[in-house]
Amino acid sequence: MINITFPDGAIRQYESGTTAMDIAKQISEGLARKVLVAQVDGDVWDASRPINKDASINFLKWEDEKGKETFWHSSAHLMAEAIENIYPGVKFWVGPPLEKGFYYDIDLGENQIGEEDLKKIEGKMSELAKQNNVFVRKEIAKDDAVQYFEKKGDEYKLDLLTNLKDGEITLYTQGNFTDLCRGPHIPTTGFIKGIKLTAIAGAYWKGDEKNKMLTRIYGVTFPSQKELDEYLVFLEEAKKRDHRKLGKELELFTFSEKVGMGLPMWLPKGAMLRERLQNFLKKIQEEYGYLPVITPHIGHKNLYVTSGHYEKYGKDSFQPIKTPQEGEEFFLKPMNCPHHCEIYKSSPRSYKDLPLRLAEFGTVYRYEQHGELHGLTRVRGFTQDDAHLFCMSHQVKEEFKKVIDIVLYVLKALNFTNFTAQISLRDKEDRSKYIGSDENWEIAENSIIEAAAEKGLNTVVEYGEAAFYGPKLDFMVRDAIGRKWQLGTIQVDYNLPERFDLTYIGEDNAKHRPVMIHRAPFGSMERFVAVLTEHCAGKFPLWLTPVQVKILAISEKFQPYAENLLFKLKNADIRAEIDDRNEKIGKKIRDTELAKVPYMLVVGEKEVNEEKISVRKQGHGDLGSQTLEEFIKLINEEVENKQ
Ligand SMILES: [Zn+2]
Ligand SMILES: [Zn+2]
Repeated sequence: MINITFPDGAIRQYESGTTAMDIAKQISEGLARKVLVAQVDGDVWDASRPINKDASINFLKWEDEKGKETFWHSSAHLMAEAIENIYPGVKFWVGPPLEKGFYYDIDLGENQIGEEDLKKIEGKMSELAKQNNVFVRKEIAKDDAVQYFEKKGDEYKLDLLTNLKDGEITLYTQGNFTDLCRGPHIPTTGFIKGIKLTAIAGAYWKGDEKNKMLTRIYGVTFPSQKELDEYLVFLEEAKKRDHRKLGKELELFTFSEKVGMGLPMWLPKGAMLRERLQNFLKKIQEEYGYLPVITPHIGHKNLYVTSGHYEKYGKDSFQPIKTPQEGEEFFLKPMNCPHHCEIYKSSPRSYKDLPLRLAEFGTVYRYEQHGELHGLTRVRGFTQDDAHLFCMSHQVKEEFKKVIDIVLYVLKALNFTNFTAQISLRDKEDRSKYIGSDENWEIAENSIIEAAAEKGLNTVVEYGEAAFYGPKLDFMVRDAIGRKWQLGTIQVDYNLPERFDLTYIGEDNAKHRPVMIHRAPFGSMERFVAVLTEHCAGKFPLWLTPVQVKILAISEKFQPYAENLLFKLKNADIRAEIDDRNEKIGKKIRDTELAKVPYMLVVGEKEVNEEKISVRKQGHGDLGSQTLEEFIKLINEEVENKQ
């Protein structure tokens, strides 16, 4: 008999060789129907795998991250089975789960698959899923595995096998399909009910463009058709909110191949919006004692030798800028921190100068792979709302609290109400990989935990997620349609102060090392505007939106009255425009709605005679007639309250 420990601490005895699924079935059929995979002594295992010794057990379901991962990875096997069934002789590379769904890279040989074939594959997948085939695990000796795949002529699986040793090789078979895989998988294909193949793309073998181009098919699956349907509605909504689409419609930014891929250009409306965001942040930072600095876009090689970035400049990055001076090299700056360290060093510092908070909207450049570029969220040049706080160890907590205040203020003003704070600390066991003294880490980690608690943040602590140079706190923000974004990072750094030999003279007249904190509430202006655009579906808050008011004259006759309104609104610092196109009023109203302008003023005979305006609000319809003064007051209040 073996002892099985349950998550609640209960211990029960079972026959040796019993499986997680057997145990689940004994507890209830309902549970057994939901168990996708099991955690045995912390390792994720097939629920059908025999347990031969005392162990702790945890059943993982669809709700669990590892449950979903296993579900989607198993779905990749199901897709491969369907494809092999329709196109015999194709070969498979790898089929990992994704954050949402899965893909498989496939060598189709002579076959061609296009978008139009995906339906057919989905159909075959459904058919095979209904067969409710068991995922059978088989341990196999390396020689036997090599023989098997040599016979099959599968150079891809043979390549995978070269890195594997005897004792760690397993084959999984469901139905007529066998794959080399470490597992685990869900119990049977019958769990997979909602199936959608979402995209087809080319992908170089091992991501190397010198290699053969394989076909990558993406898909997503669910335990029920209902969940798939809901997801498809979500996708539709996400498409409508795509910042690349809205950015074009609202004339916020553009890209040009001639300027360079991944290098966004802000159009007037976008630039003004970005400026308002920057001013908003500058204002609060000023209140919190930040000092502005400005640094160049490039830095001498020596700067990056000191900072440690130089080692990381491989051939996959932007290459150095040469000068007429023999051997002289400059680099585009990948971060603002090294420059700020030099500013810190530009003058002797005493404990009385700390904390020193240097802020800069600093533009940095990083070479992202072509395929990784995506609108404003993945670019090659971007501007961080950066600041570096230099302080003493005992000030870390206070500084964190202040940065948290700023981030909360920003999130509130932009209607992000759903978020948690993720605190990333050292690995509990292995501490050799971290630089800086144990004592300092202890102080910093506790400071972050206490600061977050005192600010009432809803926190999640992740051990082992800290950078090698310090612990950090990230705000994980959910947008209006439930997607998770990482915004507002606050990061402690023991590395750069060491590398740059930063010091201050303490009360004891001796030299000490300051602590450095990196922080960026927005992250970068580009990414933040992208996230914000998708969050509010292009309907920016009134204080931020490019055009606050559109004036629509019912006919040309009322144009002078409209011009007069425009003049007065502009004098009151309200961003207004006139729609003076020769169009019907109905069309003007519709177009203004589509342009997501919050307010429109309709003027005609009645308004002119009464010296009033008819106000329409985006999403609220007709607000009735008002005097211009009343309307200006309304707008100013809404802007003031950042509603
Ligand atoms: Zn697998
Ligand atoms: Zn930094």
